Amino acid sequence: MTPTLGLASPLAAVKGVGPAGARLLSAAGLDTVLDLLLNLPYRYEDRSNPRTIGSLGEPGEVVTVGGRLLHLRERRARARRLRLVEAVVDDGTGAIQVVWFNQPYLAGTLSAGGRVWLHGALRPARSGLGLQLVGPEWEVEDEDADPIHLGRIVPMYRRVGSWSGRRVRSLVARTLGSLGEVDDPLRPWLPAALGLPPLGEALASLHFPPAPADASALDAALDALAHRTTAAHRRLAFEELLALGVVLERERATRRSRRALACTVDDAVRERARAVLPFHLTAAQKRVLAEIVADLRGEVPMARLLQGDVGSGKTIVATLAARVVLESGAQVALLAPTELLVQQHLATLARLLAPTAYRPAVLSGSLPGREKTDVRGALEAGAARLVVGTHALLQDATAFAHLGLVVIDEQHRFGVAQRQALLAKGHAPHLLVMTATPIPRSLALTVYGDLDVSVLDELPPGRSPIRTVLRDDSARPRLAEFLRREVDDGARVYWVFPLIEESQKVSRRAVETHARAVKAELAGVGVAVVHGRTPAAEREAVMAAFAGGSIRVLCATTVIEVGVDVPEASVMVIENAETFGLAQLHQLRGRVGRGTRPSWCVLLVGEGCSAEARTRLEYFASTTDGFRIAEEDFRTRGPGELTGARQWGRPEFRVASLVIHRRELEAAREVAAAAAAGGTLASLESALSGRDLLGKSVPVG
Ligand code: ADP
Ligand code: MG
Repeated sequence: MTPTLGLASPLAAVKGVGPAGARLLSAAGLDTVLDLLLNLPYRYEDRSNPRTIGSLGEPGEVVTVGGRLLHLRERRARARRLRLVEAVVDDGTGAIQVVWFNQPYLAGTLSAGGRVWLHGALRPARSGLGLQLVGPEWEVEDEDADPIHLGRIVPMYRRVGSWSGRRVRSLVARTLGSLGEVDDPLRPWLPAALGLPPLGEALASLHFPPAPADASALDAALDALAHRTTAAHRRLAFEELLALGVVLERERATRRSRRALACTVDDAVRERARAVLPFHLTAAQKRVLAEIVADLRGEVPMARLLQGDVGSGKTIVATLAARVVLESGAQVALLAPTELLVQQHLATLARLLAPTAYRPAVLSGSLPGREKTDVRGALEAGAARLVVGTHALLQDATAFAHLGLVVIDEQHRFGVAQRQALLAKGHAPHLLVMTATPIPRSLALTVYGDLDVSVLDELPPGRSPIRTVLRDDSARPRLAEFLRREVDDGARVYWVFPLIEESQKVSRRAVETHARAVKAELAGVGVAVVHGRTPAAEREAVMAAFAGGSIRVLCATTVIEVGVDVPEASVMVIENAETFGLAQLHQLRGRVGRGTRPSWCVLLVGEGCSAEARTRLEYFASTTDGFRIAEEDFRTRGPGELTGARQWGRPEFRVASLVIHRRELEAAREVAAAAAAGGTLASLESALSGRDLLGKSVPVG
């Protein structure tokens, strides 16, 4: 008898893992049974319908067959130094040849005469007669156990260290086999209407989905698995969303219980602020500012989301809010997602606050250690009043004497935990979060908790419309001519290259290589490169030169995606546009059209661009309305892609998608709100904290 496992058992306790196995798993972050069970399959493969060998059809088809293994032998191929294991499988209706390359151990593992399952693609046999299976997945049939690798809907896992996905699958099956009754503390909190299974059942069927009742239900079952809409998926999604709901309720309760600094805003303050404005505020900016000022004057801490499409002028609104708080004697912290953006905000704030005594400080990762210490000291002592920074602001080492306002720019780049970390550095600071990602109001309230929402629905005057066009490689020579004309006429150009996810290094090299080609094409024009790894000082110098005009073409990765503001930039070229989401393209396009020059966005599409992707891009080219683009993104973004959580400024969920699991989201919010109202929030928190699914997920940013 193997000992019964619980979710908290170490993986070393699972039969066959051993100390070395446990170390390997631990290196991948898998320490307990729960860790392993939360390591979900990345997809499912339908291997449930074995075919009769007599009925096998075309080469290329992927099939599952089962039968008796005959003529098993190992041999060396003469020409190449290959070791082959060959056999024939016979199921009574016919026989088929099987060959495996360089897996000689199979000759010892499989046994002639035994029954096996095989799954793989059919190839024409080398003899030219009939078909064969080359290197199929295999499983020895076991009378006493359900098959796990074949003959069912099979979970596919990523490798863990040197362990193949298949080996992980065996481990998961063994673990589930000796898992005892799983206690589900969340059971009383699951809304009956959602029909969610208890945790143990959900975990088991996420790994080994039960066979559908009959063949006609198979497609629906596979579809639900692929779209994460099975009851098991919804169960986990609900838990993640509930954890989020609880955090938001807690945040709200804490905020409500404290008194904020009530700022004074009199005519003198207004006059001084107005005097430094380089332009007239738009009507929308005035309205939003009035909403913010009303909040700042009250004792309930402000919690406001400022939503405004790219280029709508959010920065100035935030600067004026900051000024109000500064004049009332408190400190202000502005958090931005990238160093580029920090530098830009710093310049804007310095310019607008130049006539005052307030000097913005910077706190970002690239700052030398000594300077960081100095800035932190000044903030803690209250000597520095205003700070702009990246994640360095969030670290424990950063403390404030009297933090009165937290501004978070590009909120969708941060997670809720990060927002809380910054808020916790003050007694009850006012909070202003800004985002250009338009989201439906109902969803905003659900996802951002009880933030009040202000909308900037008007662009500053004098903007020129942006024309968006799709082009393929054949257009490059003409594009070069066009760019040269534009640049000679004073324009600035962004040339964006997709980030190659797997490796920063590869994408850096790609940008640099492309930049050389661009330089060659546009000889004599100032061309520079920025990417995530460009040292801060160099990046600053490049951006300044770009703004100033000595550099006319900026080749970049998506580091320039958010917030960057150079009004003279009027052409945005995007390589492999089909690899970007629409919301991201919208952000990128928003970098141009900020001045009076007629602006262009050129989407270069690669050869691999599907018809579907092209349609999506054509839609994008037809509108500049961020809200419609976001809706379209929703509609077309396959649920298999990013959860969408990232876009909405939440930690990445394992399972939950704010798009797919709207019902669970709504229900989770209701449960959390009811718990808060009924005084049971703490017990709900403890029901959740045993597992902390959310806490294990990767924060964004
Ligand atoms: P976003 O909302 O995308 O953050 P920014 O705050 O960067 O937009 O503003 C975009 C540009 O518009 C900046 O160059 C800014 O100086 C300019 N701007 C903002 N408000 C106005 C206004 N009322 N009139 C003219 N220009 C404005
Ligand atoms: Mg901005």
